[in-house]
Amino acid sequence: MQTTIEPTTSFEVSDKGFYGHFGGAFIPEMLHPNVEELRQNYRQIVADPTFQTQFQQLLEDYVGRPTPLFLANRLSSEIGANVYLKREDLCHTGAHKINNTIGQILVAQRLGKKRIVAETGAGQHGVATATVCALMGLECIVYMGSVDMNRQQPNVDRMRMLGATVVPATSGSQTLKDATNEAMRHWINNPVDTHYIIGSVVGPHPYPDMVARFQSVISEEIKKQLFAKTGHENPDYVVACVGGGSNAAGAFFHFLNEPSVRLVAVEAAGHGLTSGHSAATTALGKPGVLHGSRTILMQTEDGQVIEPYSISAGLDYPGIGPLHAHLFESGRGDFYAITDEEAIAAGFQLSKLEGIIPAIETAHALAALRHMNLKADDVVVVCLSGRGDKDLNTYSKYLQ
Ligand SMILES: *Cc1c(COP(=O)(O)O)cnc(C)c1O
Repeated sequence: MQTTIEPTTSFEVSDKGFYGHFGGAFIPEMLHPNVEELRQNYRQIVADPTFQTQFQQLLEDYVGRPTPLFLANRLSSEIGANVYLKREDLCHTGAHKINNTIGQILVAQRLGKKRIVAETGAGQHGVATATVCALMGLECIVYMGSVDMNRQQPNVDRMRMLGATVVPATSGSQTLKDATNEAMRHWINNPVDTHYIIGSVVGPHPYPDMVARFQSVISEEIKKQLFAKTGHENPDYVVACVGGGSNAAGAFFHFLNEPSVRLVAVEAAGHGLTSGHSAATTALGKPGVLHGSRTILMQTEDGQVIEPYSISAGLDYPGIGPLHAHLFESGRGDFYAITDEEAIAAGFQLSKLEGIIPAIETAHALAALRHMNLKADDVVVVCLSGRGDKDLNTYSKYLQ
C-alpha cells in the first residue's frame, strides 16, 4: 500500500510510522482495512484513563509488576562495574512478552473483537497470547510451523491446555515465516471480528509503536527503582538482547532522549558472523522490507530473505524492528553480536554467581558486558528478559 519513505530524525514514531528511514506500513491492499482501523484507534484507546487503570491493575495483580531491579553483587565484581538486573524473568509466563499481550488483548476488546490470531516461532509468544485469551475468554488461534511444533512440543501442549487452537503451517520451510503468512491470511479473511497480536516491535505501523509503548513499563520502572537505590534515574548503560526488539525497546524507551545513557543492543551471532549460521541482523543485513515495515534484514544480493540461525529460538529472526534499525543507523545505539558459545558461558556464569538461570536469549545480553570496556563506577542495567527453564534441554548439553 505505502510506497514512499518519509524519513524523520527523532526517536519518536512519526504519524506515518517512521523512525528515521525505517518503519511505515508496506502491506498488501487486502490488509489495509484491518491495519488502518488499528492505526486510527490505538492511541486514543491506550490514552483512555479506564484503559490505563485496567492495564496497570493487570500488570500488578496478574503479571506481578513491578518486577525487581536487582544489584547483582557477585556478577558486578566479576565484570568490574555495577550491574543491575531488571527481572522480567519473574513476570507471569516467565518473560516480558506478557506485557505486550495484556495490552493488545485490552485493545482488541475495545475494538469489539471476539477472536485473536497470532503466529509463533518457538511458542513463547503463542503461550503469552493463549494466556491472555484464557484470562479474557476470547477465542485464540495460533499458527505455528509444523517443524517448530515438533521441535517445541511442550509449548504446543501449554497453548492447548490454555484453550488455544494451534494450527500447523505446512507451507514453505514450515517455520515462523510460513506461520506468519498463514496468520496474516487468516486475518485478511476475518477482518471484522479478529485482532492479530504481533509479538515484537515489528510489522506494519502502528504495531512497532504500540508494542514499544506496552513494553515501556520496563524503563519506567527502571528509572524509579534506580533513583530509589542510587539517587540517579539514569544509568550509564542499558543492555538488552534483540530478536525483533521488544524487550530492548521497552528497556530503552524512557532513555531514548537521554544522551548520557548508552543504549546497547545485543544480537545473536550464532556460530559466528562469517559462518553462514547467524542472526546478527545489523552486522550482516541491508535495508529492505520485512513483514510490512522498512527495516534492516538479512538478505541475498537479489533480496531473498536469508534463513537466520541462533541457538536461542527468540533471537532467530532475520530482521529487527524499525526503531532499532534507526538506533543503529543514527549511532544512538551500540550493537554487539554474541555467539552461541559466549551466550551459553554467560548463562552458566549468571546461574553460578547469582542463582538465576537466564533464558538463552537473555544470556546474549549478559555476554556483551565483557566486550563493553566498563569502568568500576559505571552503572549498567541489563534487561533480564526471561527465565531459562524452557532452555534446560539446550543448557544440559553443555553440563560437564
Ligand atoms: C521472545 C524473547 C526474546 C526476543 O524478543 P524481543 O522482541 O527481541 O524482546 C528475548 N528474550 C526472551 C526471554 C524471549 O522470550
